Amino acid sequence: MTDERNETADQVEADINFDCPLCQKNISIDARGAGLMIACPDCRQEIQVPIPAAEEVVDLVVDGGVLEPRMQELQSSLADADSRRERLIAELESAQQRLTHLEKNVAEQHGRFEQISAELVVIQNSLDRLVSLLQDAGVRDL
Ligand SMILES: [Zn+2]
Repeated sequence: MTDERNETADQVEADINFDCPLCQKNISIDARGAGLMIACPDCRQEIQVPIPAAEEVVDLVVDGGVLEPRMQELQSSLADADSRRERLIAELESAQQRLTHLEKNVAEQHGRFEQISAELVVIQNSLDRLVSLLQDAGVRDL
């Protein structure tokens, strides 16, 4: 064992530290090398870089930034989806407002037509009354 692994905390967190199974040389390798076959820098034999246990992987993710770029990618896609959703909701709200406005217009027009119909009934009644008055007055040709 050497004091190598305590040099800088960052390096230790981001790297995998292990001893060469053949010459016992302490080796420090970037976390991305997990599971790879490498040549031992000391005895030159092919050895496999150990794959860290789950709790060590968590440290590597957090401090070593192995998965962080992927996480940031996912978070930014998530943010994109959120802003798209907000835009769609805003469009939906404005469409609903337009629809409400149109419905109000239709209702107003409808009310106006009913008023006109009522006026027409009044006019028709007046004409009927006029005709019967004229008939009473002896004008038979109508
Ligand atoms: Zn070795």
